[in-house]
Amino acid sequence: MKKTVIIGAGILGASVGYELAKQGAQVTIVDREDSGQATKAAAGIICPWISQRRNKRWYRLAMEGARYYPALVEELQASGECNTGYKKVGAISPHNNIDKLEAMVKRTLKRKEDAPEIGDVTILSEQESKRLFPPLADGYQSVYVSGAARVDGWALRNSLLSAAQKLDAIFLQTDCSLLMENGTVIGIKTAHETILADEVIITAGVWANELLQPLKLAIDLSFQKGQIIHLQMPEVNSDDWPVVMPPHDQYILSLNGNRIVIGATHENDEALDYRLTMGGMKEIMEKALLFAPGLLNSTFLEAKVGFRPFTADFLPIFGRIPGQDSVIFANGLGASGLTMGPYLGQQLAKLALDKELDIPAADYALDEFISEK
Ligand code: FAD
Repeated sequence: MKKTVIIGAGILGASVGYELAKQGAQVTIVDREDSGQATKAAAGIICPWISQRRNKRWYRLAMEGARYYPALVEELQASGECNTGYKKVGAISPHNNIDKLEAMVKRTLKRKEDAPEIGDVTILSEQESKRLFPPLADGYQSVYVSGAARVDGWALRNSLLSAAQKLDAIFLQTDCSLLMENGTVIGIKTAHETILADEVIITAGVWANELLQPLKLAIDLSFQKGQIIHLQMPEVNSDDWPVVMPPHDQYILSLNGNRIVIGATHENDEALDYRLTMGGMKEIMEKALLFAPGLLNSTFLEAKVGFRPFTADFLPIFGRIPGQDSVIFANGLGASGLTMGPYLGQQLAKLALDKELDIPAADYALDEFISEK
């Protein structure tokens, strides 16, 4: 039985851990739960199909990721995980320009040829749009996509960890680093123990480069800070609202428990800045109120900060670290990591178990991003 250790349990690490445990590997998952963990702060939109992004490699992972969700959630529920945080609620994209709405319908229907899970794609009148999402401003029709979903990243991550532990995986909430012998990684060490492993899988988000220091390697990674706000409307049941994707860079969705999420900022800073800022809150509230003035009287519950891990060309990367046959590295899930994470986790588990992947690994290779330090 292969002995595997996963460093980092955001959505990606938790997904790999679950898949490996399912396939009978011996699994230890280690996570130090950094504040700023992307998965915990994320919004939770699963709707890659209406994006105008043209990169085929990105779209492939996002599309496969969205497709993978229903089966995964069913499987988790069957293993007793009832709070996966996933719900298919559909999405609306409001606009006051009918030409733009029609172009979006056309684009999305074309993608439906390969992705029937997109479901119905229709233009809703102003009245129909408001019926689905009552806080909407006057004057907007919308494109409705029935296959879109939302997911609470933290709830799903915890379900995956819990399901993995039922399959005998071990979860340690602690810091760790690589354990080396004669220049080769042979496992990990924490403050309390060393753990030997046949495979070490690094899914450590924006903190991943710290782990590579003993190998004198660095990966060209960057990050984008996201601030995000949670609200609630008194006496309003928002649990089944669709995801709302206006034509700016922010969105509105609801999570279980009548939570309404608005955001998020996209801040390209030089260093990790864990602060919530007035500027961030102002931007989020102004953009949300532009399309949803009905939220004006909602209750402010909390705000969060998370760091989206990016590579230089905005694509996820994964593979074995050169010269270290037992170390797999995966990162760069960017702004769509909740969508892609579970599917990519399944692929990483296949890589770790020397099975054939369903995607061309060369499209996401590490090589051009690695340099010696
Ligand atoms: P993370 O979730 O950051 O997890 C990395 C983990 O590694 C952390 O827990 C950290 O503590 C741990 N770690 C690091 N180093 C060590 C170490 N040495 N020892 C132990 N543990 C370690 N995606 C979507 O698909 N839809 C969305 O709507 C969406 N909205 C978003 C909104 C915001 C505000 C943000 C920030 C992100 C959003 N994303 C969304 C993107 C998505 O959240 C990320 O791409 C994804 O969560 C990245 O997951 P990850 O597992 O790679 O990293």
